Amino acid sequence: MTNKKLIIIGAGVAGLAAGCYAQMNGFDSEIFELHDLPGGLCTAWERKGYTFDGCLHYLFGSGAGQPFNQVWQELGAVQQRPFVNHPEFMRVSDRERTFIAYANPDELEEHLLALSPADASLSRAFCDGIRQFMQFDMAMLQEKPRSLLTPSEWGQFGLKVMPFAMPLARWGRLTAAEFGARFSDPLLRRAFGKIFGWHDIPLMVGMSLLAYMHRQNAGFPVGGSLAFARAIAQRYLQLGGQIHYKAQVEKILVESNRATAVRLYNDEIHAADYIISAADGYGTIFHLLGGQFVNNELRRMYDGRYRIHSQVQVSLGVNRDLSGTPHSVTYLLDKPLLIAGEERDHLWVKHYNFDPTLAPAGKSCLIVMLESNQPYWQRIYGRRLYDTEQLQVADILLEFLEGIYPGLKQQIEVKDVATPLSYERYTGNWMGSTCGWLLTPQTMIKMIQGMEKQLPGLANLYLCGQWVEPGGSVPVVAMSGRNAVQLICAAEKRPFTTSLPA
Ligand SMILES: Cc1cc2nc3c(=O)[nH]c(=O)nc-3n(C[C@H](O)[C@H](O)[C@H](O)COP(=O)(O)OP(=O)(O)OC[C@H]3O[C@@H](n4cnc5c(N)ncnc54)[C@H](O)[C@@H]3O)c2cc1C
Repeated sequence: MTNKKLIIIGAGVAGLAAGCYAQMNGFDSEIFELHDLPGGLCTAWERKGYTFDGCLHYLFGSGAGQPFNQVWQELGAVQQRPFVNHPEFMRVSDRERTFIAYANPDELEEHLLALSPADASLSRAFCDGIRQFMQFDMAMLQEKPRSLLTPSEWGQFGLKVMPFAMPLARWGRLTAAEFGARFSDPLLRRAFGKIFGWHDIPLMVGMSLLAYMHRQNAGFPVGGSLAFARAIAQRYLQLGGQIHYKAQVEKILVESNRATAVRLYNDEIHAADYIISAADGYGTIFHLLGGQFVNNELRRMYDGRYRIHSQVQVSLGVNRDLSGTPHSVTYLLDKPLLIAGEERDHLWVKHYNFDPTLAPAGKSCLIVMLESNQPYWQRIYGRRLYDTEQLQVADILLEFLEGIYPGLKQQIEVKDVATPLSYERYTGNWMGSTCGWLLTPQTMIKMIQGMEKQLPGLANLYLCGQWVEPGGSVPVVAMSGRNAVQLICAAEKRPFTTSLPA
């Protein structure tokens, strides 16, 4: 009997993971990827000996035996890979005082109490939250697709979640910025809304991040994001899968409401028994399928009501060793700076000297990340203004950095600017989104309940990746790829396995 054929669209982490599990479960799978590299958003780029990382700040599952580690073991991504575990996540400085977001809640509590005795009860509540989330196993939300849970598995699931019901209800609906606004101390008032990526992130996400960091389960993979993704691609090839690069899917072909094949832009048609789209959700639903399989809920998801996060990343290769300075600092500005059409009251600056593989000896990769919306860049794209604006953004930031690291301007060897359009072009992600739907109290409920992995009225097509897992993130999308194969195995009435074929 021949194996069933499975086609996967996209070689991001979700698609690569789906491919590995498809091979483990006896399917013949092939991945079609528009770029010439694996990894999608989990990537890095090299310029004159500097490797600019474009993704991972922390990887959940980096700690042996801890939540999400199993998926990385299964995908061959962590074996023999060292991780850097930072004792502090970030500093926030107004140039007179500095708040240090220590991963250790005891150290953090002592520091917060010293910074502002008047805010003692808030500081204690925050650190207690971190302690409560220390044992929270986020991977359990995706161990098995919700639709496949038996009544007794639902019961076990409920028992595991129960101890966290109160902290989830208390800290899941409150945003980091709302919590910060309760502090009387001016530095802490401003700091809390800035540390965890975006101001309306649920506070529990920040608490969980610090908890996982403290447990050494949120490390940075030495070698960076692309090397990490390449390891999963390697595992997929070892398992017998095939990746076709520069192979952009133009259409998913449908017969009698069943997805049957993909057509590439070069007109090649590849038939399959099952198709998994691990590509951008908007592109899959409205372009590859022409918007034929949607319901009101899906239309609402994509009508612009949910926030999306896109960014500008200015990467600098610097002939200077910055390893003696803190690796990640958000500077609060006295006077706002106008950058890319928006007034900025803070800037996040990060160097990567903690990983010596990323820059030549004695030199540093320095990165500034700014939230920036895609329509701004789209309006000027194709005109000289686009290039001018990129240069101006870099120049304003260089001027600012010169104040922090005097002499830096003369030491710049490489300057690189990625805009939301770069992310869109290289990964197809709608509006240049870095993580699909932004995780906010509004989308958090969808994250916990789980989104539909199939489209209404269409058989044999499954979705995985950051557009069906609000908040995205590398471990969650890897589990999403795993879940897609679990669903297909269930449709085939065969057990799902994670063991490697003999
Ligand atoms: C700056 C930044 C920082 C981040 N920091 C972290 C972090 O610290 N920790 C963390 O866990 N996560 C982080 N993330 C989020 C994480 O990277 C993403 O959520 C995750 O990588 C998404 O994976 P994916 O496979 O779902 O999608 P993608 O990575 O977008 O992969 C989709 C793939 O499909 C391909 N594709 C699209 N359309 C087609 C088509 N028509 N035909 C063929 N191929 C197609 C694309 O080229 C791409 O390779 C960060 C992301 C960014 C950008």
